[in-house]
This record gives sequence, structure tokens and C-alpha cells, in this order.
Amino acid sequence: MTNHYKDIVIIGAGPIGIACALECKKRNWDYLVIEKGSLTNSLFNYPLNMTFFSTSEKLEVDSIPFISNNPKPTRNEALEYYRRVTTSNQLHINLYEEVNSLQKINDRFKLVTDKATYSSKKVIIATGFYDIPKVLNVPGEKLNKVSHYYKEAHPYSLQNTAIVGASNSAVDAALDINRKGGNVTMIIRGKAVGERVKYWVRPDIINRIKEGSIKAYFNAKIKEIKPKEIIIKTLRGDITITNDYVIALTGYKPNFEFLKQAGITFSNDDKRIPNYNSSTMESSVEGLYLAGVICGGMETHKWFIENSRIHAIQIANHLETELKK
Ligand code: FAD
Repeated sequence: MTNHYKDIVIIGAGPIGIACALECKKRNWDYLVIEKGSLTNSLFNYPLNMTFFSTSEKLEVDSIPFISNNPKPTRNEALEYYRRVTTSNQLHINLYEEVNSLQKINDRFKLVTDKATYSSKKVIIATGFYDIPKVLNVPGEKLNKVSHYYKEAHPYSLQNTAIVGASNSAVDAALDINRKGGNVTMIIRGKAVGERVKYWVRPDIINRIKEGSIKAYFNAKIKEIKPKEIIIKTLRGDITITNDYVIALTGYKPNFEFLKQAGITFSNDDKRIPNYNSSTMESSVEGLYLAGVICGGMETHKWFIENSRIHAIQIANHLETELKK
């Protein structure tokens, strides 16, 4: 494996990894972004027809204008925007290369990927949380009919689909499938549709449930998934319903193991928030920075593009002095 020397390696080419690369480029720093999938891999895996809740200017990086047809851009427009930002700035990005380990050895970091090894003075982790779903841990979850991601409604048309969860993603998928001729049952752990569901969508799902076009079980959870049925645990006892597909949209979590092996420490509670300096974004390991939604630990709703793009500037400001040392 070839050994490459860099001043800064950024792990992850999501919107925030790209924002970090732009800050490095502006300062003529020797940097490289390493991304395990496609450019903005998480956005690429979002539902095909999704619309962001943010307006386009809130998703801009380095104040590069993001023009969209409507105030809130679509997934395709966002892909186009981050692609254009990357190509027109000729950012240094290696795609389809996964960082498997990261270790600080003396005053440098050793990164081992599936293609090479790197030695870097500083590292920025911007790996997001969209790769590891929070699983249901029930029998049958490994069946082919179960998915933790939602792409589009067509395959679920004329089918019985159970959607687990009541957050934005679950509600959007339920409405989409319902409107494309699918029979949707929502399985909701709490007693109501999530409070954080977009204010312009919440009444829609509540009314669909009220009128019965979408069935919902509240205070309920899936107990078992079988090839043609699911068993739901409710307050009134177990219920078995016919089922073709299960889409479990119960959230995602950061790769804690990766952070841990890099030496990063966490809060002692269930939130598992990585320790970092909120002014410089430097983690508990000197020279190792955190950027983007990874900073929230299990609180995955806390950071998003809108409020975490600033991390790139905070890190660059700190590196200005650190790299001169
Ligand atoms: P990500 O975009 O997740 O990027 C992380 C990258 O790191 C990925 O490309 C991943 O492949 C890569 N990676 C991970 N591990 C490795 C590794 N070991 N080696 C190499 N590469 C690695 N936010 C908003 O501000 N406004 C919105 O309207 C909005 N709408 C959303 C709608 C949906 C359906 C979802 C799911 C999220 C939405 N968000 C929104 C949240 C926003 O998309 C995320 O906050 C954003 O993707 C975070 O950017 P990031 O760069 O921190 O992480």
C-alpha cells in the first residue's frame, strides 16, 4: 500500500466535508478528502423525490449561491449544487475509498483505507451518521422485505407496507406510498405523530390517519416479522397483520467504534456526545477535529447542514495558527 503524506485529511465528502475542503483550498493548504461512497453519499441515498426543509441559501457552503426553482430545494438540486461546487473549485477528493482506521502516532495521524495509507498532520472527521440504522432487534429483521432506507413509492404500490417510526422520514414515506396506491400501516412507539414533523406536513398525516386511509397503531412496536405477516405488540395485546414490506425509519447513529478507536472520548450518558471544544471543534485528541452532524452523538436531530456548515470556518480559523507551529 502506498504511503501518502498530507497536512490535512478530511474524512467524508458530505456537505460539511466539502465546506471544510473549500476552507483549505482558499488557504492553499495541502489537503485531501477521502470519501467511501459517491460525492455527498448520504444525500444521494435520500428518497428520490425529497424536498429539503431548509431554503437553498441555508444549505450554501462558502457563500457560493445555491439557486433552486422553489425556496426549498429538492435532492436533485442539492446533488447538482454540491457537485458543481466541487468540480468548479477542483477540490481534491478521493471517492470510493473507505477510511478503516485512524490512529495518532507521536505528532501525526496514520489513516488506513481500503486502498492506501496516509500520514497527516491534522484530520477532520465529517462522517455524518446516515450509514448505520438503529435496528429494531426483532426476529425476521434480516428478511429481504425489510429496509431501513426509503427511496421511492413505486415498488410498494398495491402492497401492504408497514412503516415503523413517526418522524419526518417515516411520515413522508407513508404519505408518498399512500398516494401511489400502497396500503400503509404505521407502527408508532409513542402516542402521537412526532412533534418535530414539519409543520406543513403534520396535519396531512394526522388527517390521513383520522380518515383511515393510512392505518396507525400508537404505543405499539413490531414484535416479529414473518415472510407474509408481522406481529405488532400493542397496549391491547398482540395483533397479526398481513404484510409484504417493512420500512423501519427509526433513525441512524454515528459510527462510535470509529471515533473510539481514534481516541475520542464521549459523554457518559445515553447521548454519547463526542467531547470537543465548541469554539475550535478540536476533539479530545489534539489535532483531530469533528465537523457536521457527527458532533451530535445519538442526538442526531441537533446538527444539520444549516447550523453545522459553520464548523468548517471554526476549524480553519484554529488551523491557521496550529499549522504554523
Ligand atoms: P453526511 O452528509 O452524512 O456526510 C458524511 C460522509 O462521510 C458520507 O458521504 C459518508 O459516505 C462518508 N463517510 C462515512 N464514513 C466514512 C469513512 N469511514 N471513510 C470515508 N468516508 C466516510 N439538513 C438541513 O440542514 N436541511 C434540511 O432540509 C435537511 N433535510 C434532511 C432530510 C432528510 C431525509 C435527511 C435524512 C436529512 C436532512 N438534513 C437536512 C440533514 C442533513 O442532510 C445532514 O445533516 C447532512 O447530510 C450532514 O452533512 P455531513 O457532511 O455532516 O454528513
